[in-house]
Amino acid sequence: MSDKLYLIKEGEISLKGGNRHVFERKLRDNIREKFKGYSPKIERQKGRVYLYLDEKCSDAFISFMLERTFGITGFARAYKAEKDIDRIIEKVREILPSSPFTDDGGTFRIDCRREDKGFPLSSHEISIRLACLVHELYPSLSVNLKNADYTLSVEVRDDVYLYFDSAKGAGGLPVSTAGRAVLLLSGGIDSPVAAYYMAKRGVKLDCIYFHAYPYTSDEALEKVKKLASLIAPYLEGTRLYVVPFTDGQLRIKKKSYIDETTLMFRASMMQTAERIAKAKKATAIVTGEALSQVASQTLSAMNFTDSMTSLVVLRPLVGMDKEEIITVSKKIGTYETSILPYEDCCVIFSPKHPVTNPDKEESRKHYEALEMDEEIEKAIEKMQVFYFNARGEEEEKSQSPL
Ligand code: ATP
Ligand code: MG
Repeated sequence: MSDKLYLIKEGEISLKGGNRHVFERKLRDNIREKFKGYSPKIERQKGRVYLYLDEKCSDAFISFMLERTFGITGFARAYKAEKDIDRIIEKVREILPSSPFTDDGGTFRIDCRREDKGFPLSSHEISIRLACLVHELYPSLSVNLKNADYTLSVEVRDDVYLYFDSAKGAGGLPVSTAGRAVLLLSGGIDSPVAAYYMAKRGVKLDCIYFHAYPYTSDEALEKVKKLASLIAPYLEGTRLYVVPFTDGQLRIKKKSYIDETTLMFRASMMQTAERIAKAKKATAIVTGEALSQVASQTLSAMNFTDSMTSLVVLRPLVGMDKEEIITVSKKIGTYETSILPYEDCCVIFSPKHPVTNPDKEESRKHYEALEMDEEIEKAIEKMQVFYFNARGEEEEKSQSPL
């Protein structure tokens, strides 16, 4: 077979009991979707998942995508050899030059497992034969069984599988095993990281962005679209709903107490998000808030915004420092886009001294007096939707927004 082979290690899935097959099937579907067009085939054998892909699919692309697939703890390029020691040696000779092994005076080990007890050589004998080959090709390497720089793993099963050190996967659980939610995605650092954490626990997410053109620019919208495309592989594809909220913002600015404008905007975001969520059968709203990061992220402000929706509000970053959030945003590749200078929240809508300790009932009354329903209705009607597939590519979808 000329296909490329990857060995995939599943994480928490292997701890699942009776409904384990649901998680396994989801992971399989997610992987298939990501590699659509590259004839993906997935085989499962005794706790191992093998992924076969078209030879033309590059290793860099495969690694990029597998690192962004939740439910996988590790993966490695693997090779198959026939069950014959001479063939195994031949194969190892062929693949070593493109492996991590180098003749740099380091250490190596052969990790051999013989599932097929009918194979004429023992694990130990296979390891010795292969170690001799490594010595011949890389004379400066020495064996260290406990703490080697390089490992060649050999598994004798229906065929013989060979692979080198595995790359780390994203962990977590396959997306779409934990229900649906909507994410409030702004152009900042935090909300893409919040998306990452919820997708990691298996939540399927669509994104909502409130756009106040011309107060927030076209560039700001482009930036949010770029962020949606960057997180889409982790999310196994996502929709981005762009809610035109200029009239809503102007109404809030005109009719509310100046120090409460941010709070009122947040309340209307919650109500709009709830409408979209319910239409999409999503049961939670995710935000990038962290406790006390800014004035609107105090406990009492959160208490107030929570009271504006009957859905669960999830704030996966609530206990994180900004520095920690930045580290994750660099790791997942959104940081450089998030720090581009197009502000998502125009200064004219931000009060100088925002309320930090609102009285829930009092603020609710103020919000009701704004009569935002009509603005929300109008904004939802004019909403645009963009679709990003599991590879992060924008796709045309001919369907109505909701
Ligand atoms: P971020 O870095 O994610 O922009 P932030 O620290 O700037 O967060 P806020 O502007 O107070 O904080 O926003 C808190 C959260 O509210 C954001 O993480 C996001 O979930 C949501 N949010 C803010 N502005 C918008 C917007 N224009 N559209 C959609 N969601 C928004
Ligand atoms: Mg922001």
